[in-house]
Amino acid sequence: MTNLIGLIGYPVKHSISPYFQQAALDYYHLDIRYELWETKPGRLESTIARLNKPQNLGANVTVPYKETVLPLLDEVEELASLIGAVNTIVKRDDKLVGFNTDARGFIQALSKERYFEPEGKRAAILGAGGAARAVCFALVREKASSLVIINRTTARAEALADSLRKYMAESGLETEVTTLPWQSSTSSETFSHCHLIINCTTIGMKYSPQEGQSPLSFEVIPKDVLVYDLVYNPYPTPLLQLARKAGADTLGGLAMLVYQGAASFELWTGRKAPIDIMYGKAREALPGER
Ligand code: NAP
Repeated sequence: MTNLIGLIGYPVKHSISPYFQQAALDYYHLDIRYELWETKPGRLESTIARLNKPQNLGANVTVPYKETVLPLLDEVEELASLIGAVNTIVKRDDKLVGFNTDARGFIQALSKERYFEPEGKRAAILGAGGAARAVCFALVREKASSLVIINRTTARAEALADSLRKYMAESGLETEVTTLPWQSSTSSETFSHCHLIINCTTIGMKYSPQEGQSPLSFEVIPKDVLVYDLVYNPYPTPLLQLARKAGADTLGGLAMLVYQGAASFELWTGRKAPIDIMYGKAREALPGER
């Protein structure tokens, strides 16, 4: 019997995860198929219930269910519950366990693709949605020295800062966390002391209302910074083009996508993810000048 792993979301037909996940499964000759389980609003509960069938090993979860799936699972690992989002479900001893591999994918891409270690570094984060939450918790756990969270909706940035501070108080970690209003992203002063700027907003994303736009203007990007855009389509994004022009180092979101997928693969199969094969397939599916 062929086993199955699915991608749960709506819509999912443009996802490139099946390309690189299937390539990794085939590399090990595993009799497992990675499928798209497009789930219309209101149908999430029944999709999750179907995971209990013996041939189903687990799933990836994407927009818009990363948060709403939590109460439907038997267990949620600590990091996913801190972030408040699950992107991977693994069936273990007939229990559905939720994980968040975005945080790990974000850090691994930084370290493996740019040899950047966050410890002692100052970072600015644009956005305060699900991706920003994963990024901020990852940076705090890696002992970044300071984070400034800049979001259009200030209350959302403050809620994220509060949950980071609460976590740090419980775990003895000491990153300085502040928030700034969205307008401050137009001032070069805001970024002048940063080592790392991360775009966790949807600005610049293909097919979004902000396609073709950059969250930052050329003038505010320092030349000795790493600009990391989580948006992976198109490549390069308008932000990355401006950052290159400013002389900054850059990293696009495809690496994180592949590394978070690799972490999910390892959770489902217990095998080492064939990163080069996964990365190659992802590049084939999303061409661009890299
Ligand atoms: P989300 O939860 O919906 O958050 C969206 C964020 O974008 C919010 O902070 C929102 O601000 C901000 N935003 C949207 N439109 C804006 C505008 N016009 N001006 C200013 N801010 C705006 O989405 P998400 O799941 O965090 O994903 C964010 C991005 O990260 C997406 O492009 C996604 O594809 C990417 N991502 C990439 C990876 C990867 O592996 N590379 C993984 C996860 C996510 P408000 O709070 O004010 O609404």
